Amino acid sequence: MEVKIDTHTHTIASGHAYNTIREMASMAASRGLEGLAITEHAPEMPGSCGLYYFQNLKVVPRKLGNLRLLFGVELNILDEDGTVDLPERTIRSLDIALASIHPPCYGKTSGREENTRAYVNAMKKDYIDIIGHPDDGRYGPDYEVLARTARETGTLLEINNSSLRPGGFRENTHDNALEMLRCCKKYGTMVTLGSDAHVDLDIANTEYSARLLAEADFPEELVANTSLDKLMSALKRNALR
Ligand SMILES: [Zn+2]
Ligand SMILES: [Zn+2]
Repeated sequence: MEVKIDTHTHTIASGHAYNTIREMASMAASRGLEGLAITEHAPEMPGSCGLYYFQNLKVVPRKLGNLRLLFGVELNILDEDGTVDLPERTIRSLDIALASIHPPCYGKTSGREENTRAYVNAMKKDYIDIIGHPDDGRYGPDYEVLARTARETGTLLEINNSSLRPGGFRENTHDNALEMLRCCKKYGTMVTLGSDAHVDLDIANTEYSARLLAEADFPEELVANTSLDKLMSALKRNALR
């Protein structure tokens, strides 16, 4: 099983990532990818780009050589209502949208029920395609509810390779991701493998995520990004068009 489009990467525009769009694209092409999603942190993340960055993305070509580029965003889920930090109109104008919980933007730590509500309410929005790194034990949800709601709403759940790297700052990620995969299998929920690369060398890295999928004996047909076409038809926003 091979990832053909990385659905989660950052460039220098995110403020704590280290390569340009062109550098990321040429690395993706050299690794034989069909596509690359560039998903900068939304404005509430300290040091990231602002609203106008996302509003102006229409000027950037979506093809570089044979590589398809998707320009999107990694939104911050701000509260239990699933509120995110770009206007709906702007998010709809993009090619792909992830929504994730990040410590500096989510405020106080909260319990499993609150975290579950936050993710569920974000997934109910038809312009949010993917939940980013739901394996983070600092904001752990009920994975049964998460996987069931993802299936019902057509949202993809991410297996985030960076989360699984030993010594990472997210907590209990291996066990949480494994539990999530178990629930996804049960409900027939699709997942996507994201590298969360903040540097070009990390693009399409599945060192840990592929191992986890094997451990879970997870069926390949439920992995959305093994081809560009498969991914495009699995994105909620495209189903509506
Ligand atoms: Zn993130
Ligand atoms: Zn990220």
